[in-house]
Amino acid sequence: MDATPAIRLTGLRKRYGTGEAAVDALKGVDMTVAPGEVVGLIGPSGSGKSTLLKCLGAVIEPTAGRIELSGETIYDSEDGGWRAGDLRTLRRDRIGFVFQAPYLIPFLDVTDNVALLPMLAGVGNAAARQRALELLTALDVAHRAGAQVSQLSGGEQQRVAIARALANHAPVILADEPTAPLDSERALTVVRILNQMAVQYQTAIIVVTHDEKIIPTFRRIYQIRDGKTHEEAGEGREI
Ligand code: ADP
Repeated sequence: MDATPAIRLTGLRKRYGTGEAAVDALKGVDMTVAPGEVVGLIGPSGSGKSTLLKCLGAVIEPTAGRIELSGETIYDSEDGGWRAGDLRTLRRDRIGFVFQAPYLIPFLDVTDNVALLPMLAGVGNAAARQRALELLTALDVAHRAGAQVSQLSGGEQQRVAIARALANHAPVILADEPTAPLDSERALTVVRILNQMAVQYQTAIIVVTHDEKIIPTFRRIYQIRDGKTHEEAGEGREI
């Protein structure tokens, strides 16, 4: 494993509410993911998966523990909480999201859907579109670069969503059930793409899933049960 993990969680806890109504959704989560690695995060409903993703994505504040991205502490409950000055910038530049639905912007063409985040981050329009085109090429959808989102198939839209998640060269991508609506072949294609992109861009990708079709592909899995993670080896089946 690379000397500096892309992501390291230490003793992460999250309590919702207070007093008798308090719910301990995360009870001390440890997780380490290397650049270029794809790991599965698997657990039954109510086990804390969404809470963990929201903490990782700086959408909600943990109650205790530490989060490091690429060796930099971004949250430490014992040292003032969030260390990043601006959480929106953190989310925009350092964490990419892929969801079950692509959530593309219908009034932008494919290229601009991917180029938008780099543009918002201050990359010039031409350079942002160039970067978008490179990603669309890597994902085999460059021929749709000028198309409207509504003209794309579901699989093409999901590839554009992956390109968008990669567009800011975020060291971490969080993928929440990215294959749930897809048939077996398309689901495996998405996982193959995620693995290729992880290696090519040295991105760490955490895939939250229930999808039995893709679980055998992970080399490493974090099971989450009752707010605690248990690391195990996956089958790592070739796709
Ligand atoms: P999963 O994504 O694995 O289904 P969640 O992270 O959504 O699990 O939930 C973990 C636990 O935290 C559950 O007991 C859930 O009821 C509780 N929980 C989630 N969100 C909240 C909230 N906003 N307020 C109170 N309890 C919550």
